[in-house]
Amino acid sequence: MSGDSRRDAGRGKLSRRSFVKTGGATLAGGLAAAAAGSPSALSGEVARQDPKIQSYKTLGRTGWRTSDIGFGTGPLKDPTLVRAAFDKGINYFDTAESYGNGAAERAIGGAIPHIGRENLFIATKAVFRGGESESEVLDRVRRSLERLDTDYIDAYSMHHTPTVEFLDHPGYHAAMDRLKAEGRVRFTGVSYHGPSRAGQGNTAEVLTAAAEDGRFDMMLLVYNFMNRGQGDQVLAACKANNVGATIMKSAPGVLHYDKFDPENMSEGERAFADRYGLRTADQLRFGSIQWVLQNPDAHTVCVSLNDFENIDRVVALSGTQLSRADEQYLDRLANSVTSQYCRRGCVECAGACPLEVPVSRIMRYAYYFEVQGREKHAMSRYAHLGGANASACLECTAPCDGVCPHGFQVRTQMSRAHSVLTLA
Ligand code: SF4
Ligand code: SF4
Repeated sequence: MSGDSRRDAGRGKLSRRSFVKTGGATLAGGLAAAAAGSPSALSGEVARQDPKIQSYKTLGRTGWRTSDIGFGTGPLKDPTLVRAAFDKGINYFDTAESYGNGAAERAIGGAIPHIGRENLFIATKAVFRGGESESEVLDRVRRSLERLDTDYIDAYSMHHTPTVEFLDHPGYHAAMDRLKAEGRVRFTGVSYHGPSRAGQGNTAEVLTAAAEDGRFDMMLLVYNFMNRGQGDQVLAACKANNVGATIMKSAPGVLHYDKFDPENMSEGERAFADRYGLRTADQLRFGSIQWVLQNPDAHTVCVSLNDFENIDRVVALSGTQLSRADEQYLDRLANSVTSQYCRRGCVECAGACPLEVPVSRIMRYAYYFEVQGREKHAMSRYAHLGGANASACLECTAPCDGVCPHGFQVRTQMSRAHSVLTLA
């Protein structure tokens, strides 16, 4: 038995969740071998002794020289992870008041005394309904400042901006003007996951408008090798307007598989994984990060870093490029699994569902659960959907079938997501 086989056999005893968390070799090099049909597709590893960030890019008009890998703090609770990441050269931290109900902001705040405030770029954000007054927004910012235990926030964004019209939020802008004048907030921004329903525009429309608006200094968008078309338009608009472009969801989370748990793999996924020797979710995740890293217009890719080992492994990707063969591999992967990926921010099938089940949003919550390991957060977000969740899909005759232009099996996937997100 080869070394790889022995390791794989051992992994077969792990649960699916722990398997995903502890996945093995990275994609770089391995991808190239895979593309060439080599059986040693898992041998590639981006390994550096004591890895450090290798590349810094200018974050648009903010002027901040950001590490090409940023820290996405969705699951963060531990300040020592912030210190460890900083020691590796990460100087960009994306957070939100909602992450862990403030726990992520508090963890960053806990690390600041050890790092020095001026050495970090802290981007935080909050979801607004639309009618908040200036004083309400000021109060939200004040509480973020308290949790972060800092005098100022580098960037404060509107989180989940739903439409182009929403960009004009009067209370937000009045508060930001005041906070900028006081030096409490340095820059403003938007984050966007896509519309919740039909008629709300799309990624390209909303974020291009934000880039051209003049009031937003930076943004956070979904961009990955399977979600690229509109993202490319947005990145071009950011470049033209000198707006900082930060990336989330770099891994599409399309392969819900465990090599040793065939029940979790579709036939197409298993065939693809077997053909290319794909063994772990991390292989795909790291290759996906590299795909974003090589785009000079994407200034930093925010990655959830849950533990010290993960920090080392992701930081080792800094400054790396995908080989041409690896890129072709990802293209083939995208083609092979296109029908299994619900595009972030897409609402093309929305008109087909009489109950207005938010398909793309539910798949995003499943991503939080399955790929990011944020089970509680995902289940809580799903519970907040109330009656508009996917329980209706279980008994539905599925008028949405065949509507997705990518062939996504909506009813099947919605039923699966409902089971995951309710632990049914
Ligand atoms: S199922 Fe297809 S059409 Fe519907 S939101 Fe997902 S990608 Fe878009
Ligand atoms: S299966 Fe039925 S309830 Fe579910 S999204 Fe499709 S049309 Fe809507």
